[in-house]
Amino acid sequence: MAEVILKGVSKVYEGNVHAIKDISLEIADREFLVLVGPSGCGKSTLLRMIAGLEDITSGEIQIDGHTVNQLPPKDRDISMVFQNYALYPHMTVYDNMAFGLRIRHFPKDEIDNRVQEASRILGIEKLLSRKPKALSGGQRQRVALGRAIVRKPKVFLFDEPLSNLDAKLRVHMRTEIKKLHQRLKTTMIYVTHDQVEAMTMGDRIAVVKDGILQQHDTPMNLYNNPVNIFVAGFIGSPAMNFLEGKIEDKKVVFGGISMDIPPGVRTDGISDVIVGIRPEYFILNDVSPHFTAQIEVVEPMGNEIFVYFQLGKKSVVARIPADTKVRPGDALPLRINVGMVKLFDPESKVSLSC
Ligand code: ADP
Repeated sequence: MAEVILKGVSKVYEGNVHAIKDISLEIADREFLVLVGPSGCGKSTLLRMIAGLEDITSGEIQIDGHTVNQLPPKDRDISMVFQNYALYPHMTVYDNMAFGLRIRHFPKDEIDNRVQEASRILGIEKLLSRKPKALSGGQRQRVALGRAIVRKPKVFLFDEPLSNLDAKLRVHMRTEIKKLHQRLKTTMIYVTHDQVEAMTMGDRIAVVKDGILQQHDTPMNLYNNPVNIFVAGFIGSPAMNFLEGKIEDKKVVFGGISMDIPPGVRTDGISDVIVGIRPEYFILNDVSPHFTAQIEVVEPMGNEIFVYFQLGKKSVVARIPADTKVRPGDALPLRINVGMVKLFDPESKVSLSC
């Protein structure tokens, strides 16, 4: 069991910087939790507090049933993988991986077994005698992972480990880390600013903004039921379209369109709303369209097409099938999938869905 529990955790840096504000979160044993949010939202601070590299201003952190607030990092049974790999340049790959075990006085045979096993898992057996400078970025990242694995920790912490890799390698390492999780069955907490990484890797995602936990849920629940405009706009690419609207006679009116109120939405006593429509919920329909879009920009993606047009005074994007014949200047009849439309309160930015 290696559950990680955060209870009302806060961090105030010198200069009255409130980096983390009262975050409570339970990360289950063997779970892969992704902490995601824009740069500066406090993700690294939170991870470093779990690791013991930052003091906790208030609140409590438990790992495996024990309060660790006062425990130094070496006694927390965690391994951390950093963005910059943090390898020792003068040591071979083998020694980099063995180092943490040697300083803990593990027997030589045990160290060798663990290094060999980790290098097999990561496919770096042939690199063991090299120094880091003779490795590619992807290989260095594997060694950094290897160094974490050999410790057999209760919890792995990852701080943007793929940010220094090129786009193709990043996608590859994403699946490698997921496979590693399935194989090791260890609790993992992974920090990233990249919502695609969060969606594809996490069993659960915790979205943070300005040091405040906004929402935590499975990727699909976050995508389909965001609690506020921030989460709705942060998760998904291209992002959800937001339009100013009004509730009139039990209809949502926006950009010259009058549409039924989506099911499960509270609109009693509400007149102004923000209407949120994901790009895939504009559907080609020449039988009963809600409106005709004058297409301004066409972006063929291969497997689909993004089309941009004005709705009201806003530029919005729709995803349509790859085989659609469309050029800038064309008029496309579109229907909105009303059941999937989100409404938000313009003041509080909170979802009006029940
Ligand atoms: P993220 O990882 O999401 O980019 P960080 O946790 O690094 O965010 O930073 C959160 C906030 O705390 C930022 O406003 C940052 O400037 C501030 N911060 C981080 N480290 C320190 C520090 N050592 N002293 C003062 N402020 C800090």
